[in-house]
Amino acid sequence: MTVKRVYTFGNGKAEGNAQMRKQLGGKGANLAEMNLIGVPVPPGFTITTDCCNEYYKIGQEKIVEVLRGEVDEAVKHIENLMNSKFGDATNPLLVSVRSGARASMPGMMDTILNLGLNDEVAEGMVAKTNNPHFVYDSYRRFVQMYGDVVLEMKPENKEDIDPFEEIIESVKAERGIKLDKDLTVEELQKLVRLFKEAIKARTGKDFPNDPIEQLWGAICAVFRSWMNERAILYRKMEGIPDEWGTAVSVMAMVFGNMGETSATGVCFSRDAGNGENLFNGEYLVNAQGEDVVAGTRTPQQITKVGSLRWANRAGITEEERISKYPSMEEAMPEIYAQLNDIQNKLEQHYRDMQDMEFTVQEGKLWFLQTRNGKCTGSAMVKIAIDLLHEGMIDEKTAIERCEPNKLDELLHPVFDKLALQKAKVITQGLPASPGAASGQIVFHADDAQAWHAEGHKVILVRIETSPEDLAGMSAAEGILTARGGMTSHAAVVARGMGKCCVSGAGGINVSYKDKTVEIDGRLYKEGDYISLNGSTGQVFAGEVPTKAAELSGDFKELMDLCDKYTKLQVRTNADTPHDARVAKAFGAKGIGLTRTEHMFFDDKKIIAMREMILSDTPEGREKALNKLLPYQKADFKGILEAMDGLPVNIRLLDPPLHEFVPHDLAGQQVMADEMGVDLATIQRRVASLAENNPMLGHRGCRLGITFPEITAMQTRAIISAACELKKEGKNPKPEIMVPLIGTVAEFRQQKAVILKSARRTFDEYGFKLDFEIGTMIEIPRAALTADLIASEAQYFSFGTNDLTQMTFGYSRDDIASFLPVYLDKKILKVDPFQVLDQEGVGQLIKMAVEKGHKVRPNIRTGICGEHGGEPSSVKFCAKIGMNYASCSPFRVPIARLAAAQASVEG
Ligand code: PEP
Ligand code: MG
Repeated sequence: MTVKRVYTFGNGKAEGNAQMRKQLGGKGANLAEMNLIGVPVPPGFTITTDCCNEYYKIGQEKIVEVLRGEVDEAVKHIENLMNSKFGDATNPLLVSVRSGARASMPGMMDTILNLGLNDEVAEGMVAKTNNPHFVYDSYRRFVQMYGDVVLEMKPENKEDIDPFEEIIESVKAERGIKLDKDLTVEELQKLVRLFKEAIKARTGKDFPNDPIEQLWGAICAVFRSWMNERAILYRKMEGIPDEWGTAVSVMAMVFGNMGETSATGVCFSRDAGNGENLFNGEYLVNAQGEDVVAGTRTPQQITKVGSLRWANRAGITEEERISKYPSMEEAMPEIYAQLNDIQNKLEQHYRDMQDMEFTVQEGKLWFLQTRNGKCTGSAMVKIAIDLLHEGMIDEKTAIERCEPNKLDELLHPVFDKLALQKAKVITQGLPASPGAASGQIVFHADDAQAWHAEGHKVILVRIETSPEDLAGMSAAEGILTARGGMTSHAAVVARGMGKCCVSGAGGINVSYKDKTVEIDGRLYKEGDYISLNGSTGQVFAGEVPTKAAELSGDFKELMDLCDKYTKLQVRTNADTPHDARVAKAFGAKGIGLTRTEHMFFDDKKIIAMREMILSDTPEGREKALNKLLPYQKADFKGILEAMDGLPVNIRLLDPPLHEFVPHDLAGQQVMADEMGVDLATIQRRVASLAENNPMLGHRGCRLGITFPEITAMQTRAIISAACELKKEGKNPKPEIMVPLIGTVAEFRQQKAVILKSARRTFDEYGFKLDFEIGTMIEIPRAALTADLIASEAQYFSFGTNDLTQMTFGYSRDDIASFLPVYLDKKILKVDPFQVLDQEGVGQLIKMAVEKGHKVRPNIRTGICGEHGGEPSSVKFCAKIGMNYASCSPFRVPIARLAAAQASVEG
């Protein structure tokens, strides 16, 4: 059977459809689908994503050989429908060549427009259109784009401007003109010549004249762009597999730059920033697609409402707005009506917010792309809930529509209202991506990364951003650009990342060379503080304080919906009453892990703790433990009270003791004085605690077994805290957890100590209350013998940090030294300490859950390692029937959504 590699579309027919994203990429599948539902799309064809993988396997020459027959046929298909001929000098056809993967990766890969032009074809087009300015404008754009993308003509240094822009500037300067559109036909022709010469001089490559050669060059360049640095980085951030590959769509060109009745634009069926159900977008008359996103001209709004709002924000008078920046609704009412109908139709068809690109060629509207729109976290939630209310989607779909990790944006701080009133607005840009950000100014993406790595919060300030800036944008708290609209690169990418961004702040003057920006008459240097409000577009001087976000409105509605479907509960890891309260407000159903060791790090407690560790007799330890008891009791009381009525799982002391003792002379002297012994005794004891491999040494239950008085004291503190709360009329629900067991005997021994200490404490109070005793499963042997352990333990909590460490044999504290190489060489796909390794570690967990249930059918199982807040890991836990996941307070909503998704996915 021969493999089909090329799928055509055009004139209301298509060989593909929306279901074929895997083969045709999102763009290709939707181009086919739009044809099938009657949306006007220029004819074309899509080369499958498999060919991209083939390209990497067999190379450029062979892939061209394999594809040639089908591509030749598909080009004929376009020629027939367009009634013109590719490469013909009298009736020429031009095409665009676009990338498009299964998942949308906006701006990460390459596109080439106006392909098929050479000197003869250009003359033919002039004869046909009688519009030499249009033809040579298209030609110089083509040479520029092809030179950049295919022939790799780039600036030599990051400070340098684009080599083509440099040539354009010099030609404009010769005649003292400012705008590209004022270039004469002769000047455009000169640009084409100068561009080609510059390419030859810089790269040594001749610009290809033959349109067929141009086409193959472009197709292979799109395949190559799958592996460019920014695309690789974007995939890493979004978890898109490298194996997916990109499809290539080749379409007949339609021209938005054929004069005043032509235009090009980008539009959204709803607001991608705040989710409002309002059709919106930007367009430019007499322009091509890249002009809108490049940020070099100020785009106009599509709707009148949008235009009025924009003018208001930019401080533009109604007179100026109407004369210079009318909306499309006002300037091209008929086209606008068609556009509005189609955007409605597409949203209804896909039942999701659409992000669309269109071109108007001499009064005729064409759609070039539609896709489900990327939006901010808050817009994502609002749109899902609105679509549910509008009856477009059902509850389960609303849950599935939301991406758990994106909720993170809704949990970030917003500006403190009072502080905001006092803050000075120094300029105003467009509200490109909402949120609040404060930080120090940097001007280059790599500086943003370097400063961030040193612990600084930075704001990346640029004239405009380009895909090369991706890593720096990701490292910054926020992004401020001088140029560019709501659909500029900075705006689109920042929204996708959930990063605060203000774009198009025309009042700022950036100098990359001096590393300064002039705002409101003042010069700000690298390192100076500014603050951005991405929801209003305001820029403030200095650092503006922020305050915590809360769960309300649509967000709360979504979370309530999650509760309706979820089977897996979400608890939190919290060591303080404050964290417990934050988590409860985000919907945590209890505490899955309180690490008691975190409670010892304050001045008084650490002295008593050190005394306990440094004593070498049981009596000495008892004395110190008696000092610690009231502190521990007060801490446990605070947490149990904050979580009143909900379970609180408190873990006995876990880390190696040497982590607590003083290693400096002054600290050792304090302890010698405190304990009435000489310095040498303290130093000997400190030295005796040193271990070669502390993570596998004297820690976890091994501490409680060798020093049972620690377990007894901690139990007493927990039980007496609970008894006191009970007396006050509260409802404490303590659980006591033994860490790091490998054998049931270890657990049995600790359980006996706990029960004895609890009995004594109840006797003191004269009443009892319910509590449970369970264990961590974090050593592979514990997972392997989970049935034996379940005969003694009431619950299991999987400590996947240690379980990952011990299953892989990777030290969790040292993985950074080899992880990048492992990821690079694809030995690991992801960091197993972040994303649970379902294949290996997951097997141990699944087996332990099953063994536990066999022996104790109602045994409770949960996860409390870092994976408890990572969506794919939470889904795994839900699917194997765990009862709960426990994560840090700010990940509770994320885990709740992931858990509900696991239930609705079934
Ligand atoms: C674990 O090992 O997963 C765990 C939760 O314990 P800790 O991180 O404190 O070792
Ligand atoms: Mg552990």
